[in-house]
Amino acid sequence: MSEGDNGSTTDRLTTGLIHHPYQPPARFGAVPPGVFKASTVIFKDTAALRARRWQDKTGYTYGLHGTPTTFTLEERIASLEGGRHTLLAPSGLAAIALVDLALLAAGDEVLLPANVYGPSRELARNELARMGVAHRLYDPLDAAALAGMIGPHTKLVWLEAAGSVTMEFPDLAGLVAVCKARGVITALDNTWGAGIAFAPFDCGVDISMQALTKYASGGADVLMGSVTTRDDALHQRLKATHMRLGLGVGANDAEFVLRSLPSLVLRYTAQDAAARRLAAWWQGRSEVVQILHPAFEGAPGHAHWASACCAAAGLFTVMFDARYTQAQVDAFLDALRLFRLGYSWAGPVSLVVPYDLTALRGTAAGQGMLVRFAIGLEAADDLIADCEQALPALGA
Ligand SMILES: *Cc1c(COP(=O)(O)O)cnc(C)c1O
Repeated sequence: MSEGDNGSTTDRLTTGLIHHPYQPPARFGAVPPGVFKASTVIFKDTAALRARRWQDKTGYTYGLHGTPTTFTLEERIASLEGGRHTLLAPSGLAAIALVDLALLAAGDEVLLPANVYGPSRELARNELARMGVAHRLYDPLDAAALAGMIGPHTKLVWLEAAGSVTMEFPDLAGLVAVCKARGVITALDNTWGAGIAFAPFDCGVDISMQALTKYASGGADVLMGSVTTRDDALHQRLKATHMRLGLGVGANDAEFVLRSLPSLVLRYTAQDAAARRLAAWWQGRSEVVQILHPAFEGAPGHAHWASACCAAAGLFTVMFDARYTQAQVDAFLDALRLFRLGYSWAGPVSLVVPYDLTALRGTAAGQGMLVRFAIGLEAADDLIADCEQALPALGA
């Protein structure tokens, strides 16, 4: 065979392998939705290419603008949240950034709860500040104080329920009413509620954002965020920025979340019950002075939680007595066997993270160390036994 023959044979092979005539029978039925991957989407003719709009779900234009897999996940998250439209982002933090960048411009101000997810505040302190967007922190338990802070430049108020680490459940109804009266858009970080503990849009928020990384995934293996709205015009503003920023998620990540959604309520409920058992056990211990779990009497925002929620996430924080030093609390954490040290939550493995309230919130020194417990799917009795065996490491 000459070189030229070989070339044309391989050319035919290559092109034939790409444009092969075989098509599998349509209407394959299975329980999971299909996993479709694309950068390029093929149009049947130029008329179809010219007619296609990326703004809606009536067809496909480009992988970044959506596939059957990502559209399916968006629609399921929208239903979960009680909204009408959902956009997916590569992480929860990217979803937060999407909301900020879509709605804020130089000269505007955004208000954040004092217990906001830390990186959201860092985004405000750095990128938003450089854009000329100001931010201030408000007390999520004081709607009247928020009313006094809203000015002509306030364009967005973030809400978080419950707040990060210190778990105060905000006066959602009061805060939202104040913002509505002043025409300010509200965006809720609903990662904790996950669409289960309470219905975010029934509370009147304009936007509900979630780190799907946590409950929706549940596997400690996916990073993803969502931004859900009910209002068409607000969705189109967010969608346009989402497109221009090039945000999108991979089909395999979407597949993982789609696979986890059917067990979401079971996991949420199980982790809620186990976390309350653990927190109740800690409540009886002399080493700790406070249990920060919104379902517990005496926890900040408990009454707001009780009026808004039918469940709680599997998360709580304990404050150790101030007589224990950081080194002693670290020794306790290092002695745990089932609980692992690490960020995030809602996966199968229970996690702990130490926090220093003074560094975290800039509050007065002299308070005890905080330890945040994120309960996984292990048996609650085993988790209690793990804490019990590690406590002697605290020392006297
Ligand atoms: C984890 C988390 C985020 C960020 O999610 P990532 O996917 O890790 O970026 C945002 N808000 C809250 C409340 C979170 O717990």
